[in-house]
Amino acid sequence: MSVIRTIAIVILSISFALFVALFGRLPIFRRTPVAFLHRLLWKHIPNGFIAVDDRVTDRRITRSLARTGDYLMNEAHPLVLIFFVLLQVISELLFIPAAWGRLSTSQIVALPPLVLAPLVFLYLSTTTSSNITAQNHRSSMLAYPYDYALFHPGYFCSTCRHAKPPRSKHCSLCKACVQKQDHHCIWINNCVGRNNYLWFNLLLVSIAVLLAYGAILGYLVLDAQLQQRFVPAALTKGSLTAKRWSTTMTWSDFANCWAWVISREWRIGAVMMLAVMSCPLAVAFLIYHVYLLWAGMTTNESAKWGEWKEDIADGMAYRAEMRRIRESYPPLPEDVEPREEQVRWPAGVRAKWWMIRTKNGKPPMKKIVGEASHTDPDQPKEEPDERWVKVKSIAEVENLYDLGFWDNLVDGLFNRG
Ligand SMILES: [Zn+2]
Ligand SMILES: [Zn+2]
Repeated sequence: MSVIRTIAIVILSISFALFVALFGRLPIFRRTPVAFLHRLLWKHIPNGFIAVDDRVTDRRITRSLARTGDYLMNEAHPLVLIFFVLLQVISELLFIPAAWGRLSTSQIVALPPLVLAPLVFLYLSTTTSSNITAQNHRSSMLAYPYDYALFHPGYFCSTCRHAKPPRSKHCSLCKACVQKQDHHCIWINNCVGRNNYLWFNLLLVSIAVLLAYGAILGYLVLDAQLQQRFVPAALTKGSLTAKRWSTTMTWSDFANCWAWVISREWRIGAVMMLAVMSCPLAVAFLIYHVYLLWAGMTTNESAKWGEWKEDIADGMAYRAEMRRIRESYPPLPEDVEPREEQVRWPAGVRAKWWMIRTKNGKPPMKKIVGEASHTDPDQPKEEPDERWVKVKSIAEVENLYDLGFWDNLVDGLFNRG
């Protein structure tokens, strides 16, 4: 029992510390021990450390830690990627030789593809760039139409100094604008974007399958060991009613037996536990990306839609019919706002509404030529522009990039720049 208890205590403590570190500042915990622990963790302990460091090394350690922290948080570096590869390889080196003699031929045959696939897809995810360059900027501009909600034409990236293509986002770690940016993933030390979304999803699938296989194999091998220990085959030879080792056992004895076999076969046991705990995470992440494909969204766009939803609920969002608003906003130069027919997106799937978010919920104003303002005679009089109507619900808003599940799937995985 003690092994399982120790593991449970370690996992619970780490989860609790993470919880305190991440959420301890929330108002709901004000004046509770959680808030106190959060301050202790983020303020008192670092301050105490700095005070000691100040006396002892004239703050040299603090400065080098700050530099390291800055590097880890704000620069692209492969440390997490290396950790990820080592985690896989070391687990496999521990598990496979220890289990080898007890695996069936078909269980062994399945191993090479399952072990290699995550490494291959990891390599492809890491090395496939979706960065926007001078060479592919034009094709990035033509890949998707502007939806005039999340992405309006006429915006320039202040770092890359080019017009921002629809669905792109500048990544400060990759130091580039990224085509159809989904998110920057530290596990692959690269942005997930238009060109590696296929490899990234295959990485998720292959990792989830490998973890599930590791968990199942570990279970089968250790369960067989328990069976052999408690119901030896020699004793039940020829018996049709040979019972399972766990029959009629209490739950606590059952847990004790597993603790015994895990500590005895710690290589298989540890890797199996790791697989059991991390497989649900991989599956959840995969399900989230299948949902995004279904919805025709990137992670970045899903966050932006979240902001729109709040602003619509607060009455801050307005929209105007595209053809009416074009009277006062004629198209921009063609290299900044490509013409409809140039964009490689199904004809007819183009923005019908021009969407804006206001800061104060007041409708956009229009100037009346020839009439002076009451408050400032030098300025023309203004009145609400009746072309703009308040958006009442997010349900009124159409996602231009959602073509239906199958077309989203084909676009998301195979429409590469
Ligand atoms: Zn940029
Ligand atoms: Zn990035």
